[in-house]
Amino acid sequence: MMNSINLYIVVPCYNEEDVLGETSRQMLLLFDEMKADGLINEKSRIVFIDDGSKDKTWSIIDSLSNEHTEIAGIKLAKNAGHQNALLGGLMTVKDDCDCAISIDADLQDDIHVIPDMVNAFIDGCDIVYGVRDNRETDTFFKRSTAEGFYKLMGAMGVKIIFNHADYRLMSRRALEEFSKFPERNLFLRGMVPLVGLKSTSVYYHRNERFAGESKYPLKKMISFAFDGITSFSISPIRLISSLGATVCVISVIMAIYAFVQKLMGHTGAGWASLMMSIWFLGGVQLLSVGLIGEYIGKIYKEVKRRPRYIIEEYKNDKK
Ligand code: UDP
Ligand code: MG
Repeated sequence: MMNSINLYIVVPCYNEEDVLGETSRQMLLLFDEMKADGLINEKSRIVFIDDGSKDKTWSIIDSLSNEHTEIAGIKLAKNAGHQNALLGGLMTVKDDCDCAISIDADLQDDIHVIPDMVNAFIDGCDIVYGVRDNRETDTFFKRSTAEGFYKLMGAMGVKIIFNHADYRLMSRRALEEFSKFPERNLFLRGMVPLVGLKSTSVYYHRNERFAGESKYPLKKMISFAFDGITSFSISPIRLISSLGATVCVISVIMAIYAFVQKLMGHTGAGWASLMMSIWFLGGVQLLSVGLIGEYIGKIYKEVKRRPRYIIEEYKNDKK
């Protein structure tokens, strides 16, 4: 069994002056407990990343890191957005730790499952997903849209962990493999499962934000969801192709209908030919757009330059 883990907790912060005091207090308490239990070692750190905040966030992080050896800070040059800030933090610490846990600054995710995550890591897991057990604390709207989104992603073939956001443990090795994903449009909760390796989930109860307000207003939430879909799936493009095919079939039916109407003398001059061409051309146009989309979809997959495989084990005893 591995003992005394060098754990890094990575916390992106954007305008979080109201929560940092309490968050660091609770995390330091947890660190003390875990050290007393011999779970983590003296080199473990809590790293706050200031994502270009406009308030006192950085000066608070700065003084916290002066007061406590356990606390470290990273300051981003400008606001990069949650996903980028988180990745920046993880990639900065990956060579200093055995494993890193990412968590939001507002303590909505229960920090008391962190020891469970570390234990799962000790048991050999490279990725431990924090999964919320229910969404009671969410409004009906947030709950139904969020759960609908996870289901939609699943239906489009994206392997995403249901009700898991960005609260997770990654081993140094998983982080190393993850650094090979060079893409620019980040949707971490969809990308991490692509690494594979041994993983598990721990379940927790999600609280309400205890101070400050959400940095994810509805507009950002929608654009994040849209990013998630378009960064992972080309099924919207396929949708155009199938729509085109459907319209083409309808155009045949409409052509027969228009022709019959014309034979029966129910039509004005030019109506039948117009009807036929509108439907037929519409179908052909959609099909063509879909076809071009197929190629764009391929280009899009290529430019991502995601690693094509990740080796979990190389056994070569006779070497
Ligand atoms: N955050 C960030 N950069 C941004 C927006 C948000 O680093 O541009 C951080 C924020 O400080 C918090 C986390 O991302 O630690 C999640 O944000 P929030 O809790 O407001 O989102 P919600 O829980 O409402 O979805
Ligand atoms: Mg939050």
